[in-house]
Amino acid sequence: MADCIFCAMQRGEIPFVEVFSNNNLFAFMDIGPLNHGHILIVPKKHYANMFEVPVELGGELLETMQALGRGVMEATGAGGLNVVQNNFAPSGQAVFHVHWHLIPRFEGDGLLKWTPGKYDSNEQMQALAELIRKAVK
Ligand code: AMP
Ligand code: ZN
Repeated sequence: MADCIFCAMQRGEIPFVEVFSNNNLFAFMDIGPLNHGHILIVPKKHYANMFEVPVELGGELLETMQALGRGVMEATGAGGLNVVQNNFAPSGQAVFHVHWHLIPRFEGDGLLKWTPGKYDSNEQMQALAELIRKAVK
């Protein structure tokens, strides 16, 4: 896709530091790492978000994520790893070519903390669960 930076990388128009590449996927160092060693795994074909990714890619994606996740943890000495994947602008997606963040985590690094919310009542949660069950196709 013409105006996509991850497609432009594959055409050699934007420099990047690769850590992995095969027929379907590539991975590189995130230029704005949450922790050092933060990488992105990206399908070579342009899919805007998770909902466009063919399910047939799922197995290879997980296998690659596991291999690269182990590599990131070993190379950085991390004790943990977050996998983050944003869909659509309200989620924080900034590059609209689907990608998975692999972020090494260190005890006490203070990243990615969130404040848990709560439902007003059990009934409210049950009603929403029913809407979700009905909406799943
Ligand atoms: P997201 O908010 O999930 O769309 O994440 C986009 C990610 O792409 C961010 O973590 C950026 O730091 C990263 N990014 C953007 N441009 C580049 C680039 N030229 N090279 C490496 N990473 C990039
Ligand atoms: Zn693209």
